[in-house]
Order: sequence, then C-alpha cells, then structure tokens
Amino acid sequence: MADLWRRYLEQQIELGGAEVVVSGEAGRRASGSAFTPSPVGSAAGDTSPLTRLPASPRSWRKGAPPIPGAGLVIETPSHVLGDELVALRSLDEIAERIRTTYCCALCPTRINGVPGHGNPDARLVLIGEGPGASEDAQGKPFVGQAGNLLNGILEAIEVPRDSVYITNIVKCRPPQNRKPLPDEIAACIPYLHRELEIIRPKVILALGSTAAEALLGVRKSLGELRNKVHTYNGIPLVVTYHPAALLRNPNWKKPTWDDVRIVRQLLDR
Ligand code: URA
Repeated sequence: MADLWRRYLEQQIELGGAEVVVSGEAGRRASGSAFTPSPVGSAAGDTSPLTRLPASPRSWRKGAPPIPGAGLVIETPSHVLGDELVALRSLDEIAERIRTTYCCALCPTRINGVPGHGNPDARLVLIGEGPGASEDAQGKPFVGQAGNLLNGILEAIEVPRDSVYITNIVKCRPPQNRKPLPDEIAACIPYLHRELEIIRPKVILALGSTAAEALLGVRKSLGELRNKVHTYNGIPLVVTYHPAALLRNPNWKKPTWDDVRIVRQLLDR
C-alpha cells in the first residue's frame, strides 16, 4: 500500500500536481505523524487543505495569504517573573521544577507534570492549553490525537517537529480536560514566560483561545484574535485554532491552514 502510494505521489510530482489528497484519521502515519497519504477520491472524501500534503517543495506557498497587519502589543510586566523563576537558567531547570513541585490545585491530581518539550534553539514555539490524558501519562506535550494532527500541520508547512518547541499554558492536566481556571493559569503561566524568555523564538503560535488570551492578557474571541500579527515581548505571535478543535470541526482546517502559512512566512522573513 505504501509503495502504491509512493508511486502515486511521484506521478503527481512528475505531473506538477500541486497537492496530494490524504485523509485525516485513515491517513495517520504509523510513525505517529498525522497524515498518511491515501488515494485521491478516498471514501473519506475529505479534501480540505490540512488533509493534503505538499507534493513538491514549497507548495505550501501556493495561495498562501499575505502576512496580516499588526495586532496587540504586549510586554510582560517584570514582576510576573519572581526572583525564584529568574534563577532557573535553562529549560531543563524549569522542567525539573515543574516535575518536582506543586504550584496550584491541578498538581496533586496529575500523573506527571508536563513541561515544554523540543528544541531549545527553536525559531518557532507552539503553545497549547494544557495536557490531556496521553500527555499526563507520558509527561510530554501533544503526544495524543491532537499531537498527531499538529505533526501533520508542521509537516505541511515543512517545519520539522524536532526543530520546534511545544509547551502549554498549564503544565498539569485539568480534570476531565476542562479549561484551566484563571487562578490555575495565573499560578502556572510564569513558567511559560520564563521558557519564552530563555528561548526567544522568532515566532510564537498560540493554539486556541485559552493560549491566546492568556498570553495576550485579553478576553477576546478567537475570531477577533486571528489574522493579525500580535507582538509578545517583541516576538511576532499568531493565533490559530487548537488542533483538538479541528478534530471536532473540520471546517476550521482551512482557516488554520492559512494561519500556519502566515507563520511559515514570518519564519522566512
Ligand atoms: N492539548 C493541549 O492543549 N496540550 C497538549 O499538550 C495536548 C493537548
């Protein structure tokens, strides 16, 4: 089957086909990546952009929206990072602190604290809401279904997952995957500010409204926050849908595809 597909893919490239349709669930790669190609016109019939893989280098550019205008400009007040956090000099030290201490009512119910994970020199940092069951079990962010979809999204814009850093607003799983409460966010977000201060990425991508609102310190809808380039402590920040929301509502794949292509262009700038 894989060979069949590879032949199809090669044919598309030879023919100059821009994109190759792959199906979501059925297309998930055994390797854990979100998409495995399946033939065009598959039973799933899902042809939205995030169920396609680029068939040739740089095909994500085709039809990519222009970089939008400026949004909010946010500077984290210095008191948010107390001396104790500033004393944490590396991502490893932050991770160790998260794994070994409690900062709010979510911590005692966790299996594992889930610190950020990825490349310490990342040019792109992705920020989700909080760990789910798989993440709680494994102690790593975005390793479940939403993580598989995120892998496919990164692949589609030709950004290797091992080049990015992925983290969350809260580092312990909220019960029944509910949204983290304001006091839980307030207790945990200093870790995130410190992670970002250490990494200083070129671009930040906030996944979903919890991440966007917490980082930007506002109460606004995702619709109001998308399609702008905000500035977080001097770093361009783009807001898009959470991958788990895309699993529930595939209509949001197209706007997400646009958002991540904006991110890709900001990385190239
Ligand atoms: N959803 C999140 O927001 N974060 C994860 O790590 C996994 C799912």
